[in-house]
Amino acid sequence: MQRLWAPWRIEYITRGDLDSGKCFLCEKKDTPQKDEENFVLYRGKTCFALLNTYPYNNGHFMVAPYRHIGDFTALKDEELLEMMKIAQIGVEALQKSMGAQGFNIGFNLGRVAGAGLVDHIHLHIVPRWGGDTNFMPVLGDTKVLSEALERTYERLLPYFKGIL
Ligand SMILES: [Zn+2]
Repeated sequence: MQRLWAPWRIEYITRGDLDSGKCFLCEKKDTPQKDEENFVLYRGKTCFALLNTYPYNNGHFMVAPYRHIGDFTALKDEELLEMMKIAQIGVEALQKSMGAQGFNIGFNLGRVAGAGLVDHIHLHIVPRWGGDTNFMPVLGDTKVLSEALERTYERLLPYFKGIL
């Protein structure tokens, strides 16, 4: 399928640096008091997980190391392992709470590969359903999208809390 890895292209929207000078992942990482409004699902020892606020599909979330690091080859074993463990929890959560039937899971490393934020690695987990259509055109309305994000967050959060 031509569109299989297209989810990652949506990253261009998730710009680089904010006014604070931080990337958007570091900004959210450093404001735990805003976890709910930032849709942060989980904080582990080395990595954290959050919903993608510009999702390709409902339930699209990301896992990133706390470290602001863009070099995949420099990730430590514990970061690699925890990233995958968190992805695994999310896959189960999406299967059980939203009936996800398949997943696209992957990284965009480097601008030419479609990364919108090249300096802070993040793993995308995109749930798929039979016959699903691209989520964005359907939910072009910002209000509808934010309500959908809130509902998704409420559905997934208990699964992530269950592993604390
Ligand atoms: Zn960062």
